[in-house]
Amino acid sequence: MNLDFDVIIVGGGMVGASLARALSGCGMKIAVIESWALNSDRQPSYDDRAIALAYGTRLILEGMGLWPALASDVEPIRHIHISDRGHFGFTRLHHEALNVDALGYVATGHDLGKTLLQGLGDLPNVALFCPASLVDFEVSEKVVQVKVSRNDGDLELRGRLLVAADGSRSMVRDRLGTGVQEWGYGQSAVISNLTPGVSPNGTAFERFTQSGPMAMLPLNRGRYGLIWSVEDARLPEVMAWDDAEFLIQVQQRFGYRLGQFQRAGRRASYPLSLVRAKQPVQPRVALIGNAAHALHPITGQGFNLGIRDVAVLADVLADAGRAGRDLGALETLSLYADWRRRDQQAVSLMTDGLVRLFTNPLLPLRVARDLGMLALDLAPPAKRLLTRQFMGINGRLPRLARGLSLER
Ligand SMILES: Cc1cc2nc3c(=O)[nH]c(=O)nc-3n(C[C@H](O)[C@H](O)[C@H](O)COP(=O)(O)OP(=O)(O)OC[C@H]3O[C@@H](n4cnc5c(N)ncnc54)[C@H](O)[C@@H]3O)c2cc1C
Repeated sequence: MNLDFDVIIVGGGMVGASLARALSGCGMKIAVIESWALNSDRQPSYDDRAIALAYGTRLILEGMGLWPALASDVEPIRHIHISDRGHFGFTRLHHEALNVDALGYVATGHDLGKTLLQGLGDLPNVALFCPASLVDFEVSEKVVQVKVSRNDGDLELRGRLLVAADGSRSMVRDRLGTGVQEWGYGQSAVISNLTPGVSPNGTAFERFTQSGPMAMLPLNRGRYGLIWSVEDARLPEVMAWDDAEFLIQVQQRFGYRLGQFQRAGRRASYPLSLVRAKQPVQPRVALIGNAAHALHPITGQGFNLGIRDVAVLADVLADAGRAGRDLGALETLSLYADWRRRDQQAVSLMTDGLVRLFTNPLLPLRVARDLGMLALDLAPPAKRLLTRQFMGINGRLPRLARGLSLER
């Protein structure tokens, strides 16, 4: 087997698998290295969590030809209702204001994984090393050498570019030693998919409660995906409740906008922190997705930001490949980093700001945020701008986000 590749992607989670699919028709030889077996129920990137997909993410998935396979598993978000439990502030966003069918869509990580991984290993020019783990790499002037460990022994792959899509604890990022900004929120996200008392009508809820923000996202099969940010000190208690007690506690905090909750699905928890790589590119190495930036899920933007990294990196690499330029050269990779900087910074800052604002119990801040929400509700231009940012359609869009193919 020839182990020379153009692009070696480490991580076959949501973002790494998306990049492999985006590049598969561009005439490059791609390797994907993923630790978990594709059909493993324990693959953490593809669990039961509800993932809100921005409208711009739909456009990218359409550009990659994947949307038709996912469309029957997603639920549209037509309205977003944001409120502060027990206080006067609220705001609403509606799809009609932007003349779109939906502001976004919701899929489970599991369904998204099914679509991204289906036939991945059969694509022309894509070699899947799975289950297998990257254990080391070395960058030299013309090539990056990558050591991979599998059950049947070690392999050495060579590539022109190594893309780190290995998640928020990225080993590639750590080995580069280029630094990371990170702070924990002292909170964990608790998820469970709930059966509400009324049928979902396309409304997603973001509810700020004294015991942490709660998002309720409409899911297929009449369910709602709950993402509840809980202080770490309270996490053991929340995870120990039986389903009946859990539903009572959620109901008390969320209220009855969705009637009386009937059932709760499997519960899982995730520690929450903000992670930002200081340098997303180095000669022959690029970071994408959570390896470059991991966010609090309060705004549902992590994967959306990651797939926008994918669309831009694929755009830049497709052009470089066509022009015969070096895919791993810093000049090539800097085009990706420069293009992505503004969006990555804006979304990280906005998400972090919202977490701090809405988890601060001080009275003046609480009043200010409630007034802010009401003011936003009454100011259509500001609301449109915010909505466009959440929809992922602000700024210069790469070809995939304009529905154009990258294939040669
Ligand atoms: C509760 C919760 C709710 C969320 N909701 C939303 C939402 O509504 N909308 C949204 O856009 N985002 C959401 N997110 C964020 C989203 O889940 C992440 O942004 C996304 O999973 C990041 O994907 P990734 O592929 O970059 O990283 P990961 O999903 O972490 O995948 C990394 C992959 O790399 C593999 N790997 C790691 N190291 C190695 C190695 N050495 N060798 C080989 N393989 C390796 C891992 O096995 C894994 O498969 C949410 C997150 C959480 C926790």
